Amino acid sequence: MGDGAATLDPGTGFFILIKMQLLIPYECHHCGVVDEAKFVYAGPHVKQICNCCNKYVKFFDKALIPDARETKLRIWAITQDVPKITSAKAEIGFIENLKGLDLKMIYWRLYLQVRKMEGI
Ligand SMILES: [Zn+2]
Repeated sequence: MGDGAATLDPGTGFFILIKMQLLIPYECHHCGVVDEAKFVYAGPHVKQICNCCNKYVKFFDKALIPDARETKLRIWAITQDVPKITSAKAEIGFIENLKGLDLKMIYWRLYLQVRKMEGI
């Protein structure tokens, strides 16, 4: 993982480097990566699994999963390339019109996929 993404500043026309700050960082005890984990259902609970090796990280309080609106803003901060976001959606099997927790989780998954596609 790199730690930044180049983006075009509309004011100057120059490429600027945006530092991505991980929203919910973790350090994997299995593979040692510092990254953001995937959220998956575990019965009535939600757990985190490593974004790199897919091993269990920890159970996670559903209420602390970022709101879909917040996650969308982060995706938008990474790329405004709509076809790219559309292909990221296809990649993860994005489901439209979800609500509540499902909505938060699908957008988080999309965010991780967009980050992966952008190499950040
Ligand atoms: Zn891992």
